[in-house]
Amino acid sequence: MASSSLPLFKSLVRGTGAATRNSATKTYDLISASTGKIRAQVEMASPEAIQAAISAAQEAQPRWYRDYSPMERSKVLLKAAQIMTTQAEALAHLETADTGRPIQETRAEGPGAADCLEWFAGLTKCMGGGQHMELAGGNFGYTRREPLGVTVGIGAWNYPLQSAVWKSAPALAFGNAMVFKPSELTPQTALRLADIYEEAGIPEGVFSVVLGDGPTVGTSLVQDPRVSKVSFTGSVPTGRKIYTQAAHDFKKVTLELGGKSPLIIFDDTNLDVAVTAAMVANWYSSGQVCSNGTRVFIHKSMHDAFVERLLERTQQLIIGDPMNDTTDIGPVVSEAHLQKVQDYIRIGVAEDQAQLVYGGQRIQAQGQQPLNPQGFYMQPAIFTDCTDSMRIVQEEIFGMVMSILPFTSEEEVLQRANDTTFGLSAGVFTKDLQRAHRMVAQLQAGTTWINTYNLAPVELPWGGWKHSGMGSENGVAGMESWTRMKSVYVEMNDIQSPFSC
Ligand code: NDP
Repeated sequence: MASSSLPLFKSLVRGTGAATRNSATKTYDLISASTGKIRAQVEMASPEAIQAAISAAQEAQPRWYRDYSPMERSKVLLKAAQIMTTQAEALAHLETADTGRPIQETRAEGPGAADCLEWFAGLTKCMGGGQHMELAGGNFGYTRREPLGVTVGIGAWNYPLQSAVWKSAPALAFGNAMVFKPSELTPQTALRLADIYEEAGIPEGVFSVVLGDGPTVGTSLVQDPRVSKVSFTGSVPTGRKIYTQAAHDFKKVTLELGGKSPLIIFDDTNLDVAVTAAMVANWYSSGQVCSNGTRVFIHKSMHDAFVERLLERTQQLIIGDPMNDTTDIGPVVSEAHLQKVQDYIRIGVAEDQAQLVYGGQRIQAQGQQPLNPQGFYMQPAIFTDCTDSMRIVQEEIFGMVMSILPFTSEEEVLQRANDTTFGLSAGVFTKDLQRAHRMVAQLQAGTTWINTYNLAPVELPWGGWKHSGMGSENGVAGMESWTRMKSVYVEMNDIQSPFSC
C-alpha cells in the first residue's frame, strides 16, 4: 500500500473508464539516488490498464490521422513545444530527482525536447508520396505514406524525457498513436509529457503512459497483436528479447541499444582539448550515456602528459547533490547500478596488467565536504595500461570507468577501434581534416564525431550499427521509421480480361 505522505505516480491511461482505474494494482518504491531514501511510490499498470491503453490508442489513432491534417498535427506539436519550453525548469527538477543527474545537465532536456517536437512538426508537413505519371498504356501510379497505427515506446532510465520525446514526437507527427513505458526508475517526465500533450490539444488515447517493470508491463505491450511497431531504448540483452518477441507477428522495431565507443585522439590535438574530450565522453551524467567514449585511444607520444592532466582536472570535479547548481557529478541512478559499476572496477583491477590510477571508490565525502552517506556516489575511475581484450574494455559498463589505450598509427587504431561487437558511435580528434574524414569513413558506428563528442542534434539520424541497434530515430529518416508506403495504380482504360470468356 502507498503511504499517504509520499507522492504516488499512476499511469496516465486516458479514455479507459473508471472500472480500469479501480482494478487491483501493485506499488513499488522510488528511491532517491542522492539520499537512498524512498521519495515516492509508483502504481504498476494492471493487465486491464495495459489493455485499456492499447484499446484507447486503437480507437483514437484513425481519428488522429484522418481528422487532423498534417498542418493541424503540426500546430498541436508546436504548441506542445511551446509548453515544454515554459516548463523546462520544472522538467529539469523532475529529471534530476528521478535520475540523479546534475541540474546543470538536465536544464538542457526541456529545450532539447522542444527542438525535437518542432523538427517533427515541420517534417509532418512533408509527409507526401511520389508519383509515376507515365506507366504503360497511359496509366499512372502514386505512393502514399501512411502511419503504422498503434505503436509502443519503451525507454531507458538515463535520459527519460529524451527517450519519450524522440519516440512520441515522430510517432504522433505522422498520425500514429503511442503507448509509452518509461523505465520503472524514472517515470516522472514521461507523465508530465502526457500532460503537456493533453494541454496542447492531442486527443485522448493518442498518447498514454503506462508505468511498471519491463518483464511484465513491457512484455505485455510488445506482445499485443494490435501493436504494429515497438521503438525501444535500452540494453542489448533486452533489445534481443524484444526483437524476438516482435518477430512473432512481424512488428516493425527500432532498437537503440548499448555501446562501447572509441574516442581516438591523435597527437596534433591540443592537450587540454584532448582532456576535455575524454572528460565529456566519460564523466557526463556519471558515465551513464550510451554513446560514451569509454575506450580512449590516445597517441603514444602524448600518453603521459594526457594522463597527468586528466588526473589533475578530474580531481577538481565537484561531486555532490545533483540539485546544486555547481555540481559536476551527481550520484549513480541506483544502488544496484552502483554495485554493477563497482564490480567492473574490481574486475579491471584483477585483469592483466591494468592499473587503476585514479578513483573508482564509493564515497561519502568529497574532500571536507560530506555527501549523504546513503547516496549512490562514487569517484570516476581511470585505468591505464589496458589491453583490447580486457572485459572492462570490451563490455558496456555504463558508468565512470575510463580505459586508456595508447596507439601509434592510424591503421592500427582503426582496426582496434572497430574490434568490438558494438557500433553506436565514435569520435576522432585531429587537426588533419583529410585524416579525420578517412577515419570516419571507416569507423563502424552509426554516429561519428570529428573534434567533438556526444552531440546529437535532432536534424541528424541517430541509430546504432552491429549490436548497438537497428533503425534510427530523428533526422529525415524519422519519417521512414514511423510510416509505411502504399502504392496506388490507376487504370485509365476499361480493365482487359486475360480469360477466354
Ligand atoms: P534495460 O534494457 O534494462 O531496460 C530498458 C527498458 O526496457 C526499461 O524500460 C525496462 O523496464 C524495459 N524492459 C526490461 N525488460 C523488458 C522486457 N523483457 N520486455 C520489454 N521491456 C523490457 O536498459 P536500462 O534501462 O538499464 O538502460 C541502459 C541501457 O540503455 C544501456 O545499455 C544503454 O547503452 C542503453 N541506451 C541506449 C541508448 C541509445 O540511444 N542507443 C540511449 C540510452 C540508453 P524496467 O527497467 O522498468 O524494468
